[in-house]
Parts: sequence; C-alpha cells; structure tokens
Amino acid sequence: MTKPLNLTEASKCVRCGACKSLCPTYLATYNETMGARGRVAMLGELDMERLAPTAALAEMIYSCMLCGACKNMCPAGINIPEVIYQGRAALKKAYSKGRLIRGALKLSASGFDNLFSILKWGQKLFYGGLYNSGVIGYVPEITSTPFKNSLQVYKTTNKTGRMAIFAGCSVNYFYPNLGESLSHILVSKGYEVVVFKGEVCCGAPFRSLGLEEEALKLAEKNIEHFNKVRAEAIISMCPTCTMVMRDQYPQMTGNTIHNLMDINEFLLRYDIAADLETAPSTVTYHDPCHLSHGLGIREKPRHILNKIKGIELIEMKHADECCGFAGLFSMHFKDMSKSIGMKKMENISDTGADTVVTSCPGCIMQLEALRKETGSEFGIKHIVEVIDEAMHEQQTDNKQ
Ligand code: SF4
Ligand code: SF4
Repeated sequence: MTKPLNLTEASKCVRCGACKSLCPTYLATYNETMGARGRVAMLGELDMERLAPTAALAEMIYSCMLCGACKNMCPAGINIPEVIYQGRAALKKAYSKGRLIRGALKLSASGFDNLFSILKWGQKLFYGGLYNSGVIGYVPEITSTPFKNSLQVYKTTNKTGRMAIFAGCSVNYFYPNLGESLSHILVSKGYEVVVFKGEVCCGAPFRSLGLEEEALKLAEKNIEHFNKVRAEAIISMCPTCTMVMRDQYPQMTGNTIHNLMDINEFLLRYDIAADLETAPSTVTYHDPCHLSHGLGIREKPRHILNKIKGIELIEMKHADECCGFAGLFSMHFKDMSKSIGMKKMENISDTGADTVVTSCPGCIMQLEALRKETGSEFGIKHIVEVIDEAMHEQQTDNKQ
C-alpha cells in the first residue's frame, strides 16, 4: 500500500504566499490563519510539536474548504489539500463540532441507505422549524427513491455499447433526476446502462472529517467493485467523487478505478451535443472547484454548451471562484459560506443569463439555497439536464 503524504510535507514551505492569492477563506477574511499559507505553517508547527492540537487550531484547519484553488500554486510542490487532510486526521479529536457527524459516518460507513432513511425522517419532523429559525440552511428534500436502490439495467433496442454510472451520494439521495437524465441520454444513444448497488461513498466526507481509515476502506471497496464492472466507461456527475477516485485513490491504495470519466469528458468524447438544437436561451457557466482546480476541466463544458444551437453562453466574472458550498463547510461555517456564495450570486445575476449551468450537485445545492434566500429568478441546471432536455425537445420535434 502506498503510504499517504504526511504533515512533514508542510516543512517544505518557504512562506512565499502564492497559495493564498486564490484561497477563498483568506480572501473572505484577510486573516493569515484562515488562508492556505497560514494553515500550512501551523500544520508544520504541529508536526514539529511546537503547536499543541488545540480546539482553536482545529477550527482553522477545518475551516479550509478543500477547494484546491491552492493546489497547483506552490513552487515547493506541496500538495496543500493533502496536507490539510492529514492535519484534520491529526486534529479530529480537537474538532468537537464534527463529533456528531463523525459518529454517524462511522456507523454508516458500509452503506448510507440507513443513515439517509433516518435523516429523511428527521428532515420531515424537524427541518421546517430549524430552517425557519435560521439554525440550519436550505437542504433539498432527501428522496424516498434513491437512484441506485437496486441493480438497474436500462436496456436499449439497438445496443452500441454498455456504460455504467457512478451515482455518488448527492445524486443518489438528493438529485436522482440527474441519474435519470444521464440514463435517458445513454439509452437514446444506444447504450445499455448499468447502475450497481455495490457502490459505496467515494470517501470525500470521511476524509474531510479526518476519518482516513474509514475512507481507505471505502476506496478499496469501490476499486474492487468497479474494476469488475464490464462497461466502456464509468460516468460520474459529481466532480468531488471523480477527483477523489482519480487523484486520491492511487495515493491512498496504490490502485485506481479504470475507465472512470467525468460527465463533461464523456459528453465531449462521444460528441453527444453534436446537432442538438434547443429553444433560444442565455446561459452562464459556473466552474465547480473540484472540476476546475481538482481535475483541470474548464473548457470542456463550454465547448459542449457552445455546440448546442439556440444556447448563447455568457461568461460571468470569476467563473472559477467557489460558490461557498464545500459540503460540511456550509454547515459549520455558515456565515462565511453565505458571504462567499453571495459574490457568486452577484456574478451570475450580472450576466443577465436565464440560467446558470454547472457540473456539480453540491454547487446546485448551494445555488438553490441562495436563490431561495435572495428571490433570484434564474434557473439552475446541471449540464446533464441541459443535454437531456435538448435531446427530448429534438425527439419531440422529430415526431411532429
Ligand atoms: S483548499 Fe481552498 S480553502 Fe483550503 S487552503 Fe487551499 S485554497 Fe484555501
Ligand atoms: S505556495 Fe507553497 S511555499 Fe508558498 S506559502 Fe504556500 S505552501 Fe508555502
């Protein structure tokens, strides 16, 4: 097994500050301890035992959004998000805010179905009151019909190939419609689609709470499971899952999932948007952090949107700046999450576009929350929905 990076990496830091220039939590606070350089410096001191693992230190390390904007900035070659993961593992006992969720994740590591069933009941009973009193933010309703609740095979008459879907927790429990959209697209292009129950969480929430051992077990399960799947590609609609599986699994386990593709890679490589036409509309595109900073995918979604006749793409300012979601960050650092998100809302609104398109269910969750709060009227769509709707429109037109 490949040994994960450890905190000793932090000692390579020469304090140049390049990493904080794009760090959203630094730019929101202008506080050195809330930025990339400060976090690396503090973790170096923790490693040298010159700083104690206190609750205050844990708070600063857990306030990182793990967005990866700092990842490729470091001249010393430090993988900063990885140093943060290691720091969180070292500080998890000191981070009391994460205790409850850590316990729940540990108990449900082998399968999230039970956890989400309990959360669904909790949501029904308590959500309205907690939301109205401002204790928690907006969360979409947990579905009672998860996307991968059983083995599903979507058959097609003129089979040209076989594709598998990696649903991920957000598609599975919050946005199963995205899984359905991708299935429609694949089936109408002649692919048989398989969705397997054996998939487990990619491990991102576990790593973000310092649960490295649990995340490793999940990685090993997914690798073993998906490498048995016979499919041309395994398609993921969540860039966080894709980034963890593509970039972190090799380092965590020495192995990886073969044939894993982000939805944009798939749509472009198979030229799915070619010849599509839709009713005239203006859209702007928001880059999810783990897609742009994590996987380096920026141009592909724009190429795809530009191929669809009828769509006019208007660039927003700072399209690759974070929306402020970052999973648990949006719950534990609610005010900062909101202030970062509000800038994104302004940049979207300034374009005057009818719809903001993105490629991440987490970003959709955050943008929906802020739209509800601000009363903004623009639509919010995942790129898979844009393609599915354009295909549907075209099929309806062809029948008439
Ligand atoms: S991952 Fe993002 S929030 Fe965390 S230190 Fe890097 S740039 Fe800042
Ligand atoms: S970019 Fe690298 S060397 Fe420079 S301050 Fe950040 S971590 Fe240190």
